[in-house]
Amino acid sequence: MANFLVPELIRKKRDGGRLGDDEIRYLVKGLSDGSIPDYQAAAWLMASYLRGMERAETACLTRAVRDSGQCFDWRKLSRNFRHERFADKHSTGGVGDKVSLILAPVAVCLGLKVPMMSGRGLGHTGGTVDKLESIPGFSMHPTEKQMIEFLDRTGTFMMAQREDICPADKRLYHLRDVTATIESVPLITASIVSKKWAEGVDAIVFDIKCGSGAFMETPQQAETLAKSLVATAEDAGMKALACLTRMDEPLGSMIGNSLEVIESLRILSDEYPSEECQRLSKPLLDISLRLAAEMAVLGGTRPDLETALEHARESITDGSALRVFVEMTQNQGAVEDWHEKLPTTRASYPIVSPRQGVLTAIKSRELGLFGIRMGAGRERLDSKIDPAVGIEMCVGPGDEVVEGEPLLFLHLHDDARGRNLREVFEKSVLDIFEFDGEPAGDPTDLLIKRIPE
Ligand code: URA
Repeated sequence: MANFLVPELIRKKRDGGRLGDDEIRYLVKGLSDGSIPDYQAAAWLMASYLRGMERAETACLTRAVRDSGQCFDWRKLSRNFRHERFADKHSTGGVGDKVSLILAPVAVCLGLKVPMMSGRGLGHTGGTVDKLESIPGFSMHPTEKQMIEFLDRTGTFMMAQREDICPADKRLYHLRDVTATIESVPLITASIVSKKWAEGVDAIVFDIKCGSGAFMETPQQAETLAKSLVATAEDAGMKALACLTRMDEPLGSMIGNSLEVIESLRILSDEYPSEECQRLSKPLLDISLRLAAEMAVLGGTRPDLETALEHARESITDGSALRVFVEMTQNQGAVEDWHEKLPTTRASYPIVSPRQGVLTAIKSRELGLFGIRMGAGRERLDSKIDPAVGIEMCVGPGDEVVEGEPLLFLHLHDDARGRNLREVFEKSVLDIFEFDGEPAGDPTDLLIKRIPE
């Protein structure tokens, strides 16, 4: 590999120049082997943040980050996969976002293989790894041999981010986090697409959350990121599309790790404890089916969206998606009858409405942040998650609310901390629930836009 002077590469980017492929590969190699110190890496990140990157630079960075670690080529790893199609979904993260738990088994029923690598909670949003780890015995660390076995037998597995996949991203992400360079579209793109590429999928659907509870608050920001992700994934040889979806109020009726597994099970088994629960879960079910159907068309296992959607709905009503989910949990070590052994707080406390009126907004970001205070998310990197705690919604935007009726239930432990949290929440109800304002959009239809349209 050619040798470059790192300060010269930083200078070139600082002055708005375009780095060549060799130069980008040199920087990423130096990040991986530690020959480039943090201060130079940080300076290059800030120059890239301020000056941006051209499409070719983003594509090259993505490839170099992918190549810094292990990549999976499923069709080479097993002859059984010669004719299979591999697909995945990536979400930019939201409050109550349990789409992966519903979508993966449905996508399997649509003929896809779904190797899913997921993250932990980030900021006020939850992560699939934390949710699944609330299932007693469930391991998010399958070996390569097990991954092949699970894909072959069941069609999917879910694993946590591994150290040996895109190790350069790990260093870059950590540095971005502490140098105010997270919010850069090319850097986010390279980080996300490199990991999906390493996962060995043919098709990828990006779920770009947009709204007050998302990292991308405006449709313009979300669309810019969506276009960059789709273009870079296509440059990497994957089929790709993005859906911009609403993230103003929480997704579904539950927030919290064990509670979100419970809601996913209700949806997959098409059995709800009340009509109210079913109504609150419906937009989540619809968007999960839509994203799974998009994956199937993109991956080539269904001819068109209408057919894919019809088959996706059938996989719920005939119980086949539930069977895939249960088999996945068994493959990955869940104890027998785990659904009866999920961690719970035993008690839940109603938070009632202090007034009457039509609910126009529920600030999901505030609920997500409260979830962190409860222990459902992390305050610090080393914080321990409490899988049992969380929030169960009783109402959604557009609902007519009566004074004194429950807006939600807090699932908290009956101790001093729990009592204190209830008091704090009661004081902030009117900061979270908005009455008689302007609705942010149609809460029953979460899809804002598909890219390409
Ligand atoms: N998720 C990632 O994996 N990387 C980013 O840069 C942002 C979100």
